[in-house]
Amino acid sequence: METILFLTHAEADGGLSKSGLEALGAAAELAKNVGGELVAGLYGAQIQPAADSIATCGARRFLAVAAEDFAAARYATDAAACEALIRGSAASLVVAAAGSRNARVIAGVAHRLGGCVDTHVTSIDAASGGPAISRWFYRQRIEGSLTRTQRPWFLLLDPGAHAPWTGEAGSITPEVLAVPVPDTCRRTIVQGFITPPADQQTIRPEAELLFVAGAGWTKKQKDGQPHVAEAEALIVDFLQKSRASLGSSKSLVDLTGENQAALRFMSHLNQVGQTGASPRHPKGLSTCCHGEEPHTVGWRFIAERRAINLDPNCGWARGKADVLYVADAFEVMARVNQLLGVKQ
Ligand SMILES: Cc1cc2nc3c(=O)[nH]c(=O)nc-3n(C[C@H](O)[C@H](O)[C@H](O)COP(=O)(O)OP(=O)(O)OC[C@H]3O[C@@H](n4cnc5c(N)ncnc54)[C@H](O)[C@@H]3O)c2cc1C
Repeated sequence: METILFLTHAEADGGLSKSGLEALGAAAELAKNVGGELVAGLYGAQIQPAADSIATCGARRFLAVAAEDFAAARYATDAAACEALIRGSAASLVVAAAGSRNARVIAGVAHRLGGCVDTHVTSIDAASGGPAISRWFYRQRIEGSLTRTQRPWFLLLDPGAHAPWTGEAGSITPEVLAVPVPDTCRRTIVQGFITPPADQQTIRPEAELLFVAGAGWTKKQKDGQPHVAEAEALIVDFLQKSRASLGSSKSLVDLTGENQAALRFMSHLNQVGQTGASPRHPKGLSTCCHGEEPHTVGWRFIAERRAINLDPNCGWARGKADVLYVADAFEVMARVNQLLGVKQ
């Protein structure tokens, strides 16, 4: 029988993230479907609120590593906590959310335990020969289904791929495991976080809308001049008013590296496409972007797509967008911002 460990760290407020609850949803469903045993393993400075919030998830055991040393993301302590929880649970399958903290340690932990790991998992199903997963390869261009006999098998579930676990909170007393933290583990000291203010944080995975800016924003316009400062102002104004997430074409983010006039708040992290990200949003609006295949392949999870382009023959017109506005994006976005301002 499989022992399925739902592995998670607690967030700073002691609770669980949405992607953590999605991983729990997948782990609980898998345990039910394969007749396995579910165990919850939590680590962090303060794990009690998280444990109580999932008290009724059906886990047979709740294991925890709880101490101030495990509060912040740090490879040495995160890996030690994960290793202790997996050994303590004797898990054959480990399901965790594919957040940056888990992604950083899980391969190393799998190696310590003689296991194997799959990342970018999008579904975990019960199959006749045991659990089977679907996962992406090659930047989400190829989807594969596979089973493995090697155990423990670590599965990092991509955010948004499973419904989050929901259920009643309760009261639970986890079995607390003692994990020694030698001084060598404390060589890296997390002193704090420096993050941009919320209105400068342009990547917002939970946003209703993905707003993509393309290189056209920096090109010469009808007066024969580029208007980069105006483009910046229009885009920032729109993002602040709409709370949309900002994506980019490759051409636009590459301009920054070539010291050309570019949008200052744009980085390669914003790039959408074959060699960029494939974000998930209900709606997308592309502006000044040609809509070539290597870019639009990153839109595969955007449900409703619209684009603004001067060129009626651009890629978006060839079945890539639901609606193409053949128009000047400078004019359209100025008007949209004006309307949003009135609404607010
Ligand atoms: C192996 C490989 C991988 C790649 N991976 C990626 C990737 O991950 N992501 C990606 O984006 N690209 C990728 N590319 C590059 C891709 O093929 C395109 O070159 C790129 O997407 C073009 O960016 P763009 O549309 O912003 O720029 P352009 O092609 O320069 O298009 C600019 C557009 O702006 C429009 N425009 C100009 N002014 C206005 C205005 N005022 N109003 C409205 N429209 C206006 C123009 O009509 C034009 O269509 C890859 C290419 C290769 C070969």
